[in-house]
Amino acid sequence: MEDCIFCKIIKGDIPSFKVYEDDRVFAFEDINPISRGHTLVIPKAHAQDLWEIPEEDLAAVHKASKKIIAAIKKALNPSGVACLQLNGRGANQVVMHYHLHLIPRSGDEPELPVSSWELSQGDMEAIKETAAKIAAAIA
Ligand code: AMP
Ligand code: ZN
Repeated sequence: MEDCIFCKIIKGDIPSFKVYEDDRVFAFEDINPISRGHTLVIPKAHAQDLWEIPEEDLAAVHKASKKIIAAIKKALNPSGVACLQLNGRGANQVVMHYHLHLIPRSGDEPELPVSSWELSQGDMEAIKETAAKIAAAIA
């Protein structure tokens, strides 16, 4: 896609710090890293989000993420790695080309807000109703 910054990175029109590439997938370092080794894994074919990405590319991205997370473990020895993927402006997706964040964590960093929310029990009837609504809509 012409105006897409990640498509430009794949084409080499914008420089990036590449860590991995195969037929379908490209992975590179986030230039605004939340932590050391913050990596983005993307499909080479433009797709905006999880709604749009073809299953083959989705599988390829996540398969590659397993290779990359193994490399991150070997290279950086993190205490954990958060995998984060946002869909739509309402979820704070900024770059509209599907991407999986791999965010290495170490003990001396503040918690990621998205991974440390407070647990409070929901309304079981409402949860049941919502589950039934989603289940009924599955194609
Ligand atoms: P998201 O909110 O999930 O859409 O995040 C988009 C991510 O892309 C952010 O973490 C940005 O730092 C990152 N990003 C934007 N432009 C570039 C770029 N040219 N190279 C590397 N990472 C980028
Ligand atoms: Zn794109």
